[in-house]
Amino acid sequence: MQVLDGKALAQTIKEELKVKVDAIRQAGGKIPHLAAVLVGENPASQVYVRNKVRSCEAVGFRSTLLRRPQDITQSELLQIVTELNADPDIDGYIVQLPLPAHIDEDAINLAIDPRKDVDGFTPVNIGRMTLGLDAYLPATPNGIMVMLDRYGIETSGKEVVVLGRSNIVGTPMTVLLSRKSNPGNATVTLCHSRTKDLKAHTLHADIIVAAIGIPEMVTADMVKEGAVVIDVGINRVDDASRSKGYRLAGDVDYAGLKDKVSAMTPVPGGVGPMTVVSLLMNTLKASQKR
Ligand code: NAD
Repeated sequence: MQVLDGKALAQTIKEELKVKVDAIRQAGGKIPHLAAVLVGENPASQVYVRNKVRSCEAVGFRSTLLRRPQDITQSELLQIVTELNADPDIDGYIVQLPLPAHIDEDAINLAIDPRKDVDGFTPVNIGRMTLGLDAYLPATPNGIMVMLDRYGIETSGKEVVVLGRSNIVGTPMTVLLSRKSNPGNATVTLCHSRTKDLKAHTLHADIIVAAIGIPEMVTADMVKEGAVVIDVGINRVDDASRSKGYRLAGDVDYAGLKDKVSAMTPVPGGVGPMTVVSLLMNTLKASQKR
């Protein structure tokens, strides 16, 4: 089985980005500047945002982290979004999800200027993506597309099953994979919590993308011999033998599948680093457009 090593690939792409940023600096151009808004103390969100900020530094971008307390009001958060939209120095920004329950996530998303929407979550960018127009593509699905491309995994004409229909992963993944592009041109089935007989679908898949949020739910009996498996899930599972008291598990039973599939992403070190790199690629693009 080929391990689809997102960590190593992300490192390669970061080095490529660094070369581009160095060239911009030498030419006296504007250094890309990403801002991240982190609300509350969600431990996973803190790790994700820290990785994003560190990755900016690694490639020579500027970054600004705006931390706000859990009890921030809707109007205070909207005010921050308005200020980021207007700030000429910020090329792109993200508002890390999930937001606290009292905040209307849709209202925040709708307030983000699509030109600075480097997460690719706003209706303008989702619409442009769907029409095949130039857009900031959602970071996780785009990171997966870049991975499929760089690893030379054929998607054209393949049966792909996407598990999970979230706005940020599953749904845009189906759009990108089914578009008339390379990678793309796949026949895509989207499965979700109401799908009957999941296994009947997954057993036919040449490629499975799992974005469900249930640890190790995809087991060997659900997968065709030689399939390619992309595991998006990042789940914390209690584990007293670890110093942190938990381990990270994907949505796929990696140990159970590894002798059956032809290629698979590990967790951690698979899709996660590709998501971060995709965000950096969007930020460089935003900076160059402005
Ligand atoms: P989500 O948590 O918003 O939704 C889960 C989806 O799974 C829903 O669409 C639901 O219909 C589907 N689902 C639930 N039970 C199911 C079942 N039994 N069979 C089939 N489908 C089922 O989804 P999300 O935000 O895309 O997150 C999914 C996972 O991916 C989580 O573990 C999350 O932490 C992880 N994630 C990872 C990255 C990354 O960069 N690696 C990025 C985003 C999300």
